Amino acid sequence: MSGLFRKRTFLRHSGVKPRYDVVVIGGGVNGLSLAYNLAASHGITNVAVFERAYIGSGGSGRNTQVVRANYNTPETVPLYKRSLEIWRTLSAELDLNILFSTQGELDLCHTRDSLEIERDKSLLNRAYGVHTDVLTVDDVLKVCPLVDVTGGGELPVLGASYHPPFTRGAPSPGSRRSGIDAPVSVSRAGSRSRPERLSRRSRATRRSSRGWPA
Ligand SMILES: Cc1cc2nc3c(=O)[nH]c(=O)nc-3n(C[C@H](O)[C@H](O)[C@H](O)COP(=O)(O)OP(=O)(O)OC[C@H]3O[C@@H](n4cnc5c(N)ncnc54)[C@H](O)[C@@H]3O)c2cc1C
Repeated sequence: MSGLFRKRTFLRHSGVKPRYDVVVIGGGVNGLSLAYNLAASHGITNVAVFERAYIGSGGSGRNTQVVRANYNTPETVPLYKRSLEIWRTLSAELDLNILFSTQGELDLCHTRDSLEIERDKSLLNRAYGVHTDVLTVDDVLKVCPLVDVTGGGELPVLGASYHPPFTRGAPSPGSRRSGIDAPVSVSRAGSRSRPERLSRRSRATRRSSRGWPA
């Protein structure tokens, strides 16, 4: 964790120019990723992100911070599976420690109906290549011995679905992107080549990225 609280300016403010190709309103995860992908995937770098407060001041900076792929609909599972792949390599890509760490998710079921829903979810997830298991109560305790499976004596746990931590290597989406710095509140993304960008990457980021499954 050394370096976590170091003072380093990632978001440089620049003066507002009279003209941009694209103006994005709102520096939340959607606005920033839109600006990033305009540059990374479409070569549109003359982009401004206008934020009325501070970056991440909306829902993006105040949510539960769970990034997962085990959703319940055919539309969302592949979308979040891809999203999760991007999160895994984003620190290295941006040269910025985004504090992403891989954990499992346990959804406890206290009713038969909820267990059925989690069974359906597991089948749907597996159909899209997302690992979600249905666990018995004994298996829940193997994953997390601290769970009170009596539910306080009122609502005992009947089972759970489990979205385990990712353990295998995933393809690096970073390899196909180029030339993007950390987003700035009024930004004009650069156009450096990937080797140049990699040579700038700090040793600290390399070290921390290495510890995370990618
Ligand atoms: C309590 C809670 C928990 C959540 N937990 C999770 C979770 O665990 N996992 C998950 O994936 N999602 C979670 N979400 C959902 C997720 O946080 C949101 O879907 C996401 O942050 C939306 O991002 P956004 O960029 O669209 O909006 P925001 O992050 O809200 O960004 C909008 C930005 O626009 C700015 N803005 C607004 N109007 C203007 C203006 N006129 N001019 C300039 N700037 C403006 C705001 O200041 C703000 O910074 C949670 C949401 C909440 C509320």
